[in-house]
Amino acid sequence: MLFGELVKALAAIESTTQRTVMVKILVSLLKKAGPGEVDRVVYFILGDLRPPWEGVELGVAEKLCLRALSKATGASVRDLEALYKRTGDVGEAARRAAAQSKRPGLLALAQQRPLEVSDVYDTLLKVARAAGEGAQDMKVSLLASLFARASPDEAKYIARFVVGKLRLGVADMTIIEALSEAFGVSKEALERAYRVRPDMGYLARHVAERRPLEDVKIAPGTPILPMLAQRLSSPSEILSKLGGAAVCEYKYDGERAQIHIGGGLVKVFSRRLEDITHAYPDVVKAVREAVTASEAVLEGEIVAVDPDTGDMLPFQELMHRKRKHEVAAAMETYPVVLYLFDVLYVNGRDLTSEPLIYRRVALSEIARETEKVQIAKWRVFDGPDGIDTFFHEAISLGAEGLICKSPASAYEMGARGWNWIKYKRDYKSEMIDTVDLTVVGAFYGRGKRAGLYGAFLMAAYDPGTDAFYTVCKVGSGFTDADLKKLYDALQPYRIPHRHPRVVSKMEADVWFAPRVVLEIIGAEITLSPLHTCCLGAVRPGVGLAIRFPRFTGRYRTDKSPEQATTPAEMLELYRRQKKVAAQAE
Ligand code: AMP
Repeated sequence: MLFGELVKALAAIESTTQRTVMVKILVSLLKKAGPGEVDRVVYFILGDLRPPWEGVELGVAEKLCLRALSKATGASVRDLEALYKRTGDVGEAARRAAAQSKRPGLLALAQQRPLEVSDVYDTLLKVARAAGEGAQDMKVSLLASLFARASPDEAKYIARFVVGKLRLGVADMTIIEALSEAFGVSKEALERAYRVRPDMGYLARHVAERRPLEDVKIAPGTPILPMLAQRLSSPSEILSKLGGAAVCEYKYDGERAQIHIGGGLVKVFSRRLEDITHAYPDVVKAVREAVTASEAVLEGEIVAVDPDTGDMLPFQELMHRKRKHEVAAAMETYPVVLYLFDVLYVNGRDLTSEPLIYRRVALSEIARETEKVQIAKWRVFDGPDGIDTFFHEAISLGAEGLICKSPASAYEMGARGWNWIKYKRDYKSEMIDTVDLTVVGAFYGRGKRAGLYGAFLMAAYDPGTDAFYTVCKVGSGFTDADLKKLYDALQPYRIPHRHPRVVSKMEADVWFAPRVVLEIIGAEITLSPLHTCCLGAVRPGVGLAIRFPRFTGRYRTDKSPEQATTPAEMLELYRRQKKVAAQAE
């Protein structure tokens, strides 16, 4: 197909205000293109050379484009820059420059050898792939060779395309509609195929070649549209929507990851279908070790964890993975854990229509839990009792809440239906003051903390009952020197069992007589079934805990354990923090 024909259609699309007309123009264009070129036409209209997750980028900014134009037309870069400034549109600047070309011979050449769609597309692909030393010059020459053969209108659209400003307002759904009409296939069938393989060029070619849409299958390496969740704010509403029973899973607070294993490769795709493998080399390695299938599509959440304690951290800590040059260092300082929650495909078998319960079993069969790959924590509930407690447990450990799923449901690609319902809090609160807590137990450290204690069980003192009630397990905020010092300082108080004045649901590795007081801060005070402080004061069976607790660096040697923060103060802090949060909203 002549590129000029595509350009005529682009101009027509641009000038219409009616969606139906836009679709009509696309229909006749797609029909004309034919199976050999239809994918290129579609990619071009969408402003891409390849599907987004392949990450093929032209790497051409306005300046480079103007340099190429200058080379092709003989106009000076300065004049072109002025023209660009005046028009505010690189396409318009290109059109005028081509029309006033100081190399009239070129125009004649253009008429002799008009550009084909494939000429433009293939050259642009070369532009994108030019890398390394001399890449810029190479890009300029390749582009100039196109501009030299382009008519003014063609130059306009090439220029807009290369700087990423085609902006036709054509979306994947518009193309689906046009393909359906052009090739007489049902829109529903196309949409289904799109959810499995959201690659418009691929689908266009598939239908243009008259191949059945049922043949479009999950292909490891091509992301599928992820299933999304609705939201409700009470366990009873959630259960009634789910038909009385729910698989409740922790809602981890990190980055969603669709993991593809196939052809010896492991790839990680984001929720928006970008390839984010480069940000997580450690996840790739961990998946290779943990997953036995040679072909699989899995879903999970990547969560940042404290390197010393393995505790979950807020999702902001994943930010360090976003800058390419920081990834290697971030793997050390900000390690992650992958929490797997679904499996959609294994060794040639599409599992998406199997019930969730079946998929969860299949997941445990192919994935072995390791330090870096875990199966998302889940429990089945057939009544609302207990869901809240599980929810508070999730939050106190750093998750965001729960995702409650229908046990019999299929994996609905791309749908935000009622088979997945999130249960999150509708407020944000913040811990407004530090607290002074007593060390009552400790947990052995791992890695560079081996041989010392890596985390401590901390408690508040209640003068009413003369007992200590646990509030958190803290492992963050300690320097190596702190850990050594604390290890030594605690030895005289070590006892073989829990101290009789300590009330705890948690089993520590080592117990102490209450003596050492530390100042602790956290993100917020939350409800938690794991701790005994204020147990039942707010809700039956649930106590108060500190979420994301951290040692401030201050040893409260001036305080005896009996002078430390009391449960009553914890409760007051919890209530004040909620009030502050409510006012802020
Ligand atoms: P939201 O982003 O608030 O709409 O919540 C949905 C997101 O929660 C998903 O896209 C996942 O990234 C994340 N998530 C965390 N844990 C789970 C889980 N167990 N099941 C499904 N999604 C989860």
